Amino acid sequence: MSDYIKDLMAEVKAKNPVEPEFHQAVEEVAESLSLVFERHPEYRAAKILERIIEPERTITFRVPWVDEQGEIHINRGFRIEMNSAIGPYKGGLRFHPSVNLGILKFLAFEQVFKNSLTTLPMGGGKGGSDFDPKGKSDLKVMRFCHAFMNELYRHIGHNTDVPAGDIGVGGREIGYLFGQYKKLKNEFTGVLTGKGLNWGGSLIRPEATGYGAVYFAAEMLSTKNETLEGKVCLVSGSGNVAQYTAEKLLELGALPVTFSDSNGYIYDEEGFNREKLEFVKVLKNVRRGRIKEYTDEYKSAVYFPIDPNLSYNPLWNHKAQCAFPSATQNEINGKDAQNLIKNGVYVVSEGANMPTTIEGVKLFLENKILYGPGKAANAGGVAVSGLEMTQNSMRLPWIREEVDNRLRMIMKAIHGRCVEMADRFGTPGNYVNGANIGGFLKVADAMIDQGIV
Ligand code: NDP
Repeated sequence: MSDYIKDLMAEVKAKNPVEPEFHQAVEEVAESLSLVFERHPEYRAAKILERIIEPERTITFRVPWVDEQGEIHINRGFRIEMNSAIGPYKGGLRFHPSVNLGILKFLAFEQVFKNSLTTLPMGGGKGGSDFDPKGKSDLKVMRFCHAFMNELYRHIGHNTDVPAGDIGVGGREIGYLFGQYKKLKNEFTGVLTGKGLNWGGSLIRPEATGYGAVYFAAEMLSTKNETLEGKVCLVSGSGNVAQYTAEKLLELGALPVTFSDSNGYIYDEEGFNREKLEFVKVLKNVRRGRIKEYTDEYKSAVYFPIDPNLSYNPLWNHKAQCAFPSATQNEINGKDAQNLIKNGVYVVSEGANMPTTIEGVKLFLENKILYGPGKAANAGGVAVSGLEMTQNSMRLPWIREEVDNRLRMIMKAIHGRCVEMADRFGTPGNYVNGANIGGFLKVADAMIDQGIV
């Protein structure tokens, strides 16, 4: 680590205490960018990274709401408007009890680079709440969403800041949020993405992150003249990203064998098929049940509850060739990375944001794993959100094939940009450097053009 990065990290930690995920995200990017600063001192002189690290605006607010029993609840709401150099702030909302300022800042920071990589004009943002929708009635969720929007609506707009979904925020929540925005503003605009198809949503948006992560894996494999056909794949999570990752893997002839949730994971040695996947979709999206229930239906699968005494996640300790972490941050630590490599995994495409610790990333890079970091591999979701914004502006929906083709082309372009940047800065095959540098340069140049604002 250079002295410049050491000093920068010391300042980041001093100014943003108790935000370990934010420190981790900044450190990874700063390490890659030291390659750029050696050749381009103008970016350092303009203090571009120092400026990107500081959110343009941070909004926190009280969300009081009343449940159907008349009990009052108070949650905390956030929106981080991180960077608008290349377009309106864009990034998801996360509803999960673990949500705090540091987690949202790491997500908003990553989003700036990811959105830049998509080739579309979108700045970076992220938001959410410590509200937990899990196990709550539709009425409670609606009341919370309306209360959340009662404050958020002041800060967002289709040309200003366009939120979408993330953990705990799917079609149901976006519907309630959009309804309240429309009522408060008395206007029908594309202020949120991930909307329902009947009211401004885009085909392929629900599928986009998972499909995109699989397209990215296919692109990485194509550099070795290989395809996904016949590959055994470990998938974590069982939400939006995990489900559509598995769907695309099946379509391309691969064999996904695991799903998880925050209680444990299932391993189906025979692999999933369309019928089993449909069961998981209904279980998770309609019945809102736990992944354990899969083993009641399919005896070929075994359920492993989370063991808090283990220093690793056994999901990553099965024989396979590919891994698609699709649940949450830091779900692959150093020991998990070792297990993956030991079990024959040589492709890792991150559907989740920052699912691998810094130690895990180092191991993947040292072992020449085809490793697609989240900000490149899962950019398909926000890319199709960008396409939803385009369709909303035109007031014209595109057909499924049109959106899917564009998604595929965007994932190909992101992959190409990562390869090109990794090569140009002397680290061929290093998608981490490729993504960080590729995302940075466009934003940095725009910031220089726009002056000190
Ligand atoms: P969902 O809420 O649909 O699903 C999340 C899944 O991950 C659930 O199975 C959930 O289990 C599990 N999970 C969440 N937190 C934890 C935890 N702390 N430990 C173990 N399991 C956990 O979210 P998404 O599928 O939308 O998001 C998954 C990941 O993908 C996140 O990292 C998100 O930031 C990222 N992502 C999502 C995009 C999108 O378009 N939706 C776009 C780009 C990235 P449980 O039900 O028990 O909570």
